[in-house]
Amino acid sequence: MLAGLVAEGRLGRKTGQGFHTYPGARRTRDKVVFLTFDDGAERDPRFVDLVRELRLPVSMFLTDSVVGPGYAHFGRLRAVGASVQNHTLDHPYLPSLPYAGQRAEICGQQDKLKQRFGIRPRLFRPPYGAYNHDTLGAAADCGVAAVVLWSDRERLRPGDILHCPEGQHGTSLTKATTNLLRNIQEQGYTVARLEDYL
Ligand SMILES: [Zn+2]
Repeated sequence: MLAGLVAEGRLGRKTGQGFHTYPGARRTRDKVVFLTFDDGAERDPRFVDLVRELRLPVSMFLTDSVVGPGYAHFGRLRAVGASVQNHTLDHPYLPSLPYAGQRAEICGQQDKLKQRFGIRPRLFRPPYGAYNHDTLGAAADCGVAAVVLWSDRERLRPGDILHCPEGQHGTSLTKATTNLLRNIQEQGYTVARLEDYL
């Protein structure tokens, strides 16, 4: 039912050096959208199966204090093609922190993810989508290439960055994601890898 959902890989779309902020979309003429997940509270093993079976490109923005002892699940997701990105150590409202505090939250999670997975994420999503000038400076200081927010639109537009629902009302993350994928497909879109477009 979900065949043909994933876009062909794209290479050579790099926009060059420099720091970018994406408030909810990476505009493109391609009829694609991007799937992102936050925090790391949901660790449904069937979600790993879904990503593997559909070869679904997903970006997981992880908060260390939420993932806690659950990093192995995200290692399994990485093994089937998911990317792991930065969503701070403790999920604070960053604009309330001074520059040094913001930097500690962002660089600290870069270090944790480097320890866990051997990679330093290129993307950062501030908790609650809240950021200020210091956030952008701190993220760049920590080696982040882009700050990525999300779109809340019901009707998709090309390049929308979608924020996938956590399992709600007793629905698992896998079920919620499957429902979202059907909606994406019904609107005539495919899912592409966010990192290929930034
Ligand atoms: Zn969050």
